[in-house]
Amino acid sequence: MRTLSTRTAGFTDSVIRRMTRVSMEYDAVNLSQGFPDFDPPKALLDSLAHVAYAGPHQYAVTWGAFNFCQALAQKQSVPMGHTIDPLTEVVVTCGSTEAMMAAMMTVCDPGDKVIVFSPFYENYGADTILSGAEPIYVPLAPPNFTFDPNVLEDAFRQGVKALVLCNPSNPTGKVFTRAELTVIADLAKRYDAYVITDEVYEHIVYAPHTHTYIASLPGMWERTISCSSLSKTYSITGWRLGYLIGPAAVVDVARKVHDFLTVGAPAPLMEAAVTGLTFGQAFYDELLATYTQKRALFLTGLDSLGIPHTTPDGAYYVLLDVSEFGYGSDLDFCYALARDVGVGAVPGSSFFREPENRYIRLHFAKTEETLNAALDRLSRMRAILGRKG
Ligand code: GLN
Repeated sequence: MRTLSTRTAGFTDSVIRRMTRVSMEYDAVNLSQGFPDFDPPKALLDSLAHVAYAGPHQYAVTWGAFNFCQALAQKQSVPMGHTIDPLTEVVVTCGSTEAMMAAMMTVCDPGDKVIVFSPFYENYGADTILSGAEPIYVPLAPPNFTFDPNVLEDAFRQGVKALVLCNPSNPTGKVFTRAELTVIADLAKRYDAYVITDEVYEHIVYAPHTHTYIASLPGMWERTISCSSLSKTYSITGWRLGYLIGPAAVVDVARKVHDFLTVGAPAPLMEAAVTGLTFGQAFYDELLATYTQKRALFLTGLDSLGIPHTTPDGAYYVLLDVSEFGYGSDLDFCYALARDVGVGAVPGSSFFREPENRYIRLHFAKTEETLNAALDRLSRMRAILGRKG
């Protein structure tokens, strides 16, 4: 048989999503792939029930149903510091995953260089490979996961086309400060690069931290493609509703990429989700209060186990340092954890460019009951997996 594409030759499946399948196989409490096990807001479910009979059930406009784009533009205009035109500056996509791929394919030719901070959400690696771009990794060094501005500038000097910014960051929980974003923005302007964001955790930012959209910084609207989704904010990861927002000239091309990749996001789900986009501030306050509580419960539980871990400023991921267990491979550790302890985790190595083997990632977007069950199982982790000899 003829060979398959060279572009996919080095591909593995997503380890994050694989760990969900592994968790299912071993009936483990799945804290690997980040998604909630609780229901979306009732108002959204009511809309969905209504849409089941009222429709639409056929294709929406390829770039996104107008009422969805309008509600989104209204929600995002003030925080993004730009009056967003729903007709020309929005594309509704199948999750932020498609938004980022479309953004990357819009901006990059094969061989173009793209800055990716490490650790990073694993899709960015695949995005660069599929679009033919060459990633240049800039480390976010533990424990604070800050970057060295000189290292970042060295990367920009290599003639990069774009920088990928995950803020709040998966898996570190870092929330980039306005000062850090200003450093990135100034470099992007100086070296004439685009910024492609992933801001899916924009509403999960713990006090006293606050979320700043890099698109809102002076001179950044023109060169930022802001990607996000409704998945995490409204607990509807399975609805696959994401979007990108950017200047009309860029969005015009992104629309064509999107048109041929997926045609469009699911029309009935877009219709039902408009209800969520028009929620008032109280909804976002409550969402944050819920996650603040879950974070406290989970981190307190981890503290009492005495396993060193990160404290996220945003999003819902925690990196645990499991070096004391002495495993040569964090992937093996995660398989053993799922099988023998009954908790699903993601090996840290799937996020790091550097040869890193110390961490596993857990998340706390789960009910208290699920989190307590996981903590209970984790309390036996040392007895079961403890360093032998
Ligand atoms: N962002 C989620 C995670 O890191 C996964 C999202 C997805 O699988 N599409 O676990």
